Parts: sequence; structure tokens; C-alpha cells
Amino acid sequence: MSALLSNLPSLPNAVSLREVGPRDGLQNEAAISTSDKISLINALSATGVSRIEAVSFVHPKAVPQMADAEEVWFGVTRTSGVRYSALVPNLRGAQRAIVAGFTEIELVLSASDTHNRRNVGRSTQQSLRQAGDVISLLHSHGAIAEIIIATAFGCPYVGDVPPERVVRLVNQVVAQGADRVAFGDTTGMATPRGVVELVDAVRNHHPDLPILLHFHNTRGTALANVLAALQLGVTEFDASVGGLGGCPYAPGASGNLATEELVHMLDDMGIATGIDLQKLLEVAVLAQRLVGRQLPSAILRAGPRSTLASEG
Ligand code: ZN
Repeated sequence: MSALLSNLPSLPNAVSLREVGPRDGLQNEAAISTSDKISLINALSATGVSRIEAVSFVHPKAVPQMADAEEVWFGVTRTSGVRYSALVPNLRGAQRAIVAGFTEIELVLSASDTHNRRNVGRSTQQSLRQAGDVISLLHSHGAIAEIIIATAFGCPYVGDVPPERVVRLVNQVVAQGADRVAFGDTTGMATPRGVVELVDAVRNHHPDLPILLHFHNTRGTALANVLAALQLGVTEFDASVGGLGGCPYAPGASGNLATEELVHMLDDMGIATGIDLQKLLEVAVLAQRLVGRQLPSAILRAGPRSTLASEG
């Protein structure tokens, strides 16, 4: 590692990336066939990625794109060494995920009450009350319960979300038995400043709680946010192949942080991910073909920095 990088505090040697393209990405896309979803997950499984968020169990009227979650999951060729997870919004979804055989399940609720009402039709506190039941159900089946706190860095309806508000939610879900907590930058409002403030606030109260960060690149800050988090010793991040995933509140905006942009940067910094960048880029090409439009990933467009232009 270069002198510059070794001067940065607490940079980890390796990080764990969770690929969320099949879920967070495809839920924003119009009709993708069940078999195409399965192909995408199978191709991702062969890149060396260690975790894939495969599907969500949400009401088909709320998110018709995920109505075939069971079929997708049963069609996937499960690869050893890959941990697959499912996202759920409520107890009903958690029951479906357990029946489908998932052992890592993420329950999502929003730090912003307004966003929570729009997303799942009830207040954050109502979602929290159900979180205890969901966590109990998951634990009774030996499953890991992760709580994803969406809009943790800001809400498109109410603006900034104070870190203290997020910490209060963390306190509550930890008391309910949550195994780990993820913080979602649902509409790309996070900045390095916001990352440092939130991670510091959470660590002050829960120094040993595993945390995962989920950034969208809506405003071009995602990689900068990751770098800020790496300096704080955070080692778990979500990303989406090709940058799949839109933002329903900012039409035309780019979606999730692209996995290959993140792997490309981490490779250069000597931080291991286990992911083969070339294989991942091939999956990004596949993802682009499946959705039928140009995806926002800069590395997909420009190629890795090791790709040299031909002279003349
Ligand atoms: Zn997201």
C-alpha cells in the first residue's frame, strides 16, 4: 500500500460486499422475466462475490417486479461460498422468506416517518413494534435478523435525518435482538460528512454492532462516502452490478453504487473483495442487456484504468 494510503487511519485489508442488483436494482425495472432474474443471480454467483441479496418478499401489488420471488429463488443454482439473503417489509414477508428457506433476512424500516408511510403504509413506530415479532420469528428458525434503516442519511420528503434519530432506532432494534444493522442512503443524500457523523454516533452507543452501509450514487457521492467509511473501519457495503436501480424520486438519476466501480477502486487500494473484476464486468454487460438501456456504471462505460487506448 502506498505511503499516502498507509497514512489513512484504520484502512481495512479486506471488505465484504453484498451484491443487491437482483433485488434493489431489478425492483425498479419493468418486466424482467423470471429466467432472466435467475440468470443474473447465477452469473453474479460466479464472480467471487460473497453475498447476494437475491429477492424481496413484498406484496405483489406494492412491488409487482418481485411477485415471482419464490420462483426466482427456487430456480437459482446456489453456489457454495455465497451467502444469499432476502429483504422483507413485514411479518408476512418474513414468513414467506422462512418458508422459502432463507437463513439471512433483512427487515427494512425508514428513519423518516413520512418515507416509512409511503413505503410500507404505516409509521416508523408501527414498523418497529412489528420488528420484535419478525426478529423472534427469524431467530426461532435459526435465521440471522438484519435491520435495514432506510433514509438514514436523509429523506426526499423531509430532508436531513438527524443521526440521533437514527441512533434511537438502532437502540430499539438492538434491544429487540437484531443481529446487525444496515444504513440505507435510499435516495443518494449521503455525503462523507453525513457518513462520519452517523457512523460515529452509532459507534458511540454500540461499539461492537456489525454495521453495513448502502449507498446510492444519485448525486455522485457514493465512492467518496465509502472512502470516508473505510477510514472509520467499516468493512461491509452494498453495491449493485452496473449501478442497476433507479431512484423513483429523482427521474433519470443514477441508482445504486455500481459494484464494479467499488471493486475497481478497492483493487487499486489493495483492499480485497474476493471479486474478479473482469467477470463482474461481464455480468454488468448482461445486466445492461436484460434491462435494455445504458447503465450508469462509469467502469462499464470507460473500462478499468488498466485498459489502454490504442494509439492512432
Ligand atoms: Zn437502495
